[in-house]
Amino acid sequence: MKDLKDDKLRIAFVYPRPLLDDIMANFQPLGILNIVAYLEKHFQDEITIRIFDQNVTPDIVENIIKFKPQLVAVSALTTNILNAYRLCDELREKTDAKILIGGKHVSALPEEAAKHAHYAVVGEGELIMKDLVEGMLNNKLPSEAILHGPYIKDLDEIPPLPYHYLDMDFYLDPRHNITAAMRLTRQTIFRKYKYHTIGMLTSRGCPFKCIFCYNSKKSSPVRYHSAERCIEDIERAIKEYNVDTIVFVDDEFLTNKKRLDEFCRLINQKRLKFNWSCQARADVINKEILQLIKSCGCKLINFGFESGSDNVLKLLGKGGKSSVEANLRAIQLCNNVGIKVSGSFMLGTPGETLDDINKTFKFIKENKIIVGLAITTPYPGTVLWDRCVEQGLIDMKNIDYSKLNFTLDNYLNNDVVPYDKFSKIHRGVMRYVALFRMDLSPYEKIKRISKRIPKLIRETADIETLKTFKKLLSN
Ligand code: SF4
Repeated sequence: MKDLKDDKLRIAFVYPRPLLDDIMANFQPLGILNIVAYLEKHFQDEITIRIFDQNVTPDIVENIIKFKPQLVAVSALTTNILNAYRLCDELREKTDAKILIGGKHVSALPEEAAKHAHYAVVGEGELIMKDLVEGMLNNKLPSEAILHGPYIKDLDEIPPLPYHYLDMDFYLDPRHNITAAMRLTRQTIFRKYKYHTIGMLTSRGCPFKCIFCYNSKKSSPVRYHSAERCIEDIERAIKEYNVDTIVFVDDEFLTNKKRLDEFCRLINQKRLKFNWSCQARADVINKEILQLIKSCGCKLINFGFESGSDNVLKLLGKGGKSSVEANLRAIQLCNNVGIKVSGSFMLGTPGETLDDINKTFKFIKENKIIVGLAITTPYPGTVLWDRCVEQGLIDMKNIDYSKLNFTLDNYLNNDVVPYDKFSKIHRGVMRYVALFRMDLSPYEKIKRISKRIPKLIRETADIETLKTFKKLLSN
């Protein structure tokens, strides 16, 4: 290997495009930005970094080759894993660079990922990438293909994120950074915003262990950026990028009450003006918390309600004090305080009955909330995945990751959906119809969707499907 000390080590970070980008919010690649910030802190004069973002430029391979990297680091989730593997394979063939792949999917299935790269990283990327870069600078490469990354204990050790590596015009544009779902609801909730939105992650992990979530198998503790650091990041986003809306993408933003108090105190003290939303569990909030966050700009909370049936909440291992009653109470409290509610629901959980499903539809119908409906999907790295593999529901030899998607047919649906009657209803249609539940009659909702997204309807639904759904909603 060439003596890399002659020159700066060239590192290309690659962010592959998801397979279904229309339903995913395109926030900045936060995982990559954290690692880049950390590497810059430690090797400022010794490395040259570029981020190649397939969301912005679909054909990135030629650009990567021109950059002549010695190390290529590809970030992969299950939702973009096929694109990630394709890119790894092509770059391995066309360059001499060492190819590294990391991310949640890789942490779950490192042996599979290692077939496509020189190194597959299990765990968080900062410390392991630091070791690897140090090794490359000293001409010492690891001999093993699977590298285990210890987690970073103090998140504040990671410097502010270097957004300048990205096309921030792309990420600040609401056509990209909110989901199709949110775009459809913007008339009711986002209309008054100027849409200069950014995603922020201020913690890692969640204290709960719902079986469908990657936290169900995570062994590292929950870690938080300090409130002061969050405020610095917000001030910077407002000053440098004119941000007026922040979506906190933390798994659970409201559980750490001490930090939340300080965070809100600082926002009010500094008179920072921005709208924000976050994700939270319904069983951790109360009136005081809601009043506090409302006072400093929170406009919307996304709750993982999951189901209208306590039976399903148990099946999903929601834990804590999770219950349908707690979910209803959360909606009531938010309504009283004036914070909008969006709720995520899932259908197709193994063990769910038709009665459970009807309870979920009833919940959706009776509560005026923004609704996201998904299919219970066993993602690698979750307890649900392990169970499905154990039960032989997933054939690892012939797995097709393009089908493992919460809005399309997936393994659970094909194989264990307990409700024949629903099998005709396409998930995409349910999702969009649910979003339009608001005050319209079921028929009106369907008509409106047909007008706005005729392509979706053409591709995904037939009259029978729509009729079935109409009947269900009006029951
Ligand atoms: S509460 Fe949410 S983030 Fe936490 S484990 Fe459950 S699904 Fe995951």
